[in-house]
Amino acid sequence: DRIISAHLMMEDQVAEFSLRPRYLAEYIGQAQAKENLKIYIEAAKMRREALDHVLLYGPPGLGKTTLSNIIANELGVNLRTTSGPAIERPGDLAAILTNLQENDVLFIDEIHRLHRTVEEVLYPAMEDYALDIIIGKGPSARSVRLDLPPFTLIGATTRVGLLSAPLRDRFGVVSRLEYYTVDELSYIVSRTADLLQVSIVGEAAREIGMRSRGTPRIANRLLKRVRDFAQVKGDGIITQEITQQALMSIQVDPLGLDEIDHKMLRAIILSFQGGPVGLDTIAASIGEESQTIEDVYEPYLLQIGFLQRTPRGRMITPSACKHLGLPMPSRS
Ligand code: ADP
Repeated sequence: DRIISAHLMMEDQVAEFSLRPRYLAEYIGQAQAKENLKIYIEAAKMRREALDHVLLYGPPGLGKTTLSNIIANELGVNLRTTSGPAIERPGDLAAILTNLQENDVLFIDEIHRLHRTVEEVLYPAMEDYALDIIIGKGPSARSVRLDLPPFTLIGATTRVGLLSAPLRDRFGVVSRLEYYTVDELSYIVSRTADLLQVSIVGEAAREIGMRSRGTPRIANRLLKRVRDFAQVKGDGIITQEITQQALMSIQVDPLGLDEIDHKMLRAIILSFQGGPVGLDTIAASIGEESQTIEDVYEPYLLQIGFLQRTPRGRMITPSACKHLGLPMPSRS
């Protein structure tokens, strides 16, 4: 697994629980999403009603799960967590819904992966807090409506484009989470260092922030690796020098790119004259899956302006060539 993958890995799981901020005030960045949510939460509490359904979308590791925990916490209600692929049958979802208490939050991660038949159970549940159950089979089958307690569905997805229109339309609040700035990430690194009880100098926190691909999950993971180096090779204090050495050893470059990013960018420049080149062709040439490239590597490379997406494929940019120390291919 790549150290800079934004996906949740085994080693993150236990740690993430304790590193997660619990209140909106502790949740760094995402000013727009946070400001609006604060008002909606306040209003729902004043009316003693369930908060409107919320859809959170954006790349992995940006804090969707964290934010849903915070929302339930701020509302003072229970949170029930599940994920799209985990709900196999309509009956599974019905069981979850009937067990909710008034105004509870149900969090469905990867909601774009819900089975169609399960999704259909969600429509009346979201709209009318009701379950339509079919009793019997064939001509004698009839539908019975069961009332549910009012609840808030929070859906999270990395691929909002894959959500069906009827599902998307049933969310009252739709928030896109953005990549974090270096300042925000440095702050998150310092906060995590405090929680882990390690000392880190400001420049080192910033160095990690710069190499975290805009993603708190990666920032926290890099910090833990650097901490190991500081313990073994230094005196435990995380300095800028130790940080740079450690990140060089684990092959994370000053912009947070690793050897696979490098391989991919070099292939586009050297084998495909800078593009445009199709995703599948790039994938085949470096032995990675197209899906992985599209979900994991490419979003950040697009974000920092190293790649461009055109109808004819991906193209390299002059800044990517400069970063790699290669000349920009000339187009014939
Ligand atoms: P997602 O659900 O979008 O994949 P998570 O909510 O699991 O991401 O966040 C990953 C990790 O990043 C969490 O452990 C959390 O500690 C940290 N994190 C995310 N967002 C923030 C934030 N705004 N402030 C501080 N830490 C954050």
